[in-house]
Amino acid sequence: MENYQEIINELRKNVLEANLNLVKYGLVILTWGNVSEIDKSRKYVAIKPSGVPYSKMVLDDIVVTDLEGNVIVGNLKPSSDLQTHLEIYKKYPNVSGICHTHSKWATIFSQANRSIKVLGTTHSDYFSKDVETTRLLTELEVKSNYEKNTGKVILEKIGENNPLDCPAILVAGHAPFTFGHDALNSVENALVLENVAEMAYYTLELNSDVVFPKYVLDCHYNRKHGKNAYYGQKTSK
Ligand SMILES: [Zn+2]
Repeated sequence: MENYQEIINELRKNVLEANLNLVKYGLVILTWGNVSEIDKSRKYVAIKPSGVPYSKMVLDDIVVTDLEGNVIVGNLKPSSDLQTHLEIYKKYPNVSGICHTHSKWATIFSQANRSIKVLGTTHSDYFSKDVETTRLLTELEVKSNYEKNTGKVILEKIGENNPLDCPAILVAGHAPFTFGHDALNSVENALVLENVAEMAYYTLELNSDVVFPKYVLDCHYNRKHGKNAYYGQKTSK
């Protein structure tokens, strides 16, 4: 069995790399965005610290908390969006990485309260359906426990669906959250989402009546993610 220190170090390492990828992929500016990962026992969550510039971020800055948000390891305050991440981890045991950005195109769709429709195979390779938008939070929800309630409207939208089938959601008037089987995977999904959002915008600009057939969507999604997936190389995992 892995010991506690190894688990914590591994989590912090993964989360630091995933957060730095946000900058590498052009998904964030300033200190925007945050990525977290939960360990296999689902007891420890590592997340970006609040307000630390990416260029100065080091391993020891990454904060580890329990599922209630109590800091276990680290001297800094966790990201202010921690409670949103925790709501998602508590509800969906197969989500082990969460990424939040204000990447431009996905945020434009969030602000416009528009879902990102499946318009081609790029979208279908990663997302099994339209990327949907949550409802707006009520005034009371914003004033009472804003970050936790942001998590709740995400849960309300995903419901009992598997969040990894369509690992992205747009929070109305806010921005996207993406999910993954680990932190790096959630950032990869954020990068794809951003590109898909931009492509969708221009596609609809050129032809607002375009219809993408469901059978092509299903073919592309299933050859990568279905029971009999055959895309890519076989791994020995
Ligand atoms: Zn945000």
